[in-house]
Amino acid sequence: MNEAVCPSCGAAISIKGTPKIGMHVTCKSCDTEVEVVWLDPLELDWPMDEYEGEEDIDDFDDGEEG
Ligand SMILES: [Zn+2]
Repeated sequence: MNEAVCPSCGAAISIKGTPKIGMHVTCKSCDTEVEVVWLDPLELDWPMDEYEGEEDIDDFDDGEEG
């Protein structure tokens, strides 16, 4: 049985089968969806690309060369 700690509430989450990096699991304690980010040791983190709403990132493109 593979067990990892929920990054949100600290509860142990057991993963059935073979865990893979990028795999999504749901914590039964706090109902947060987390992602497997490391296998040895098994580590969980919040998924990266779950942004709600749009943001205009215009400030980044400051291409003044020369
Ligand atoms: Zn949790």
